[in-house]
Amino acid sequence: MDDKKLMKILDTSEERIDIYLDFIKGSEFACPICNKPCKIHDTKDRSWRHLPLFHYESYIHARVPRTKCEEHGTKIVDIPWSRHDTGFTSLFEADIVALCKEIPVASVAERVKIHEESAWSILAYHVNEAREHVDLLQLDTIGVDEIAVKKGQRYD
Ligand SMILES: [Zn+2]
Repeated sequence: MDDKKLMKILDTSEERIDIYLDFIKGSEFACPICNKPCKIHDTKDRSWRHLPLFHYESYIHARVPRTKCEEHGTKIVDIPWSRHDTGFTSLFEADIVALCKEIPVASVAERVKIHEESAWSILAYHVNEAREHVDLLQLDTIGVDEIAVKKGQRYD
């Protein structure tokens, strides 16, 4: 690869790397409900922020297909690198959650250059997901801060 082509891939003036993914024409995708291979109804262009590469922000771009299942109708396929309705890859979100354990959410947002609201949204989603998988039936003891209870705090 010559230097001119290399510079187009790694455009240091933009300080970002864009990765474009596509599927082969005529491909079939699994219906997200019954998993049956289906033809594509249509596609929607989407982009996701991914983990930094070479210290640059990276983005994945792809056409996301909607399948046309005879039984379930038109459905958006599951994307292996991201959940629905987010502009971030799962690995990027995992990085955000890990950072939020160490430093304040506003600092995380500033550090990775996303809106603070987006960082809170990612955190809220994953905290709720984790809560759904907690088995409280095994819990037999819970501690409550006695001083806070005396101050009138309630933990219902
Ligand atoms: Zn189906």
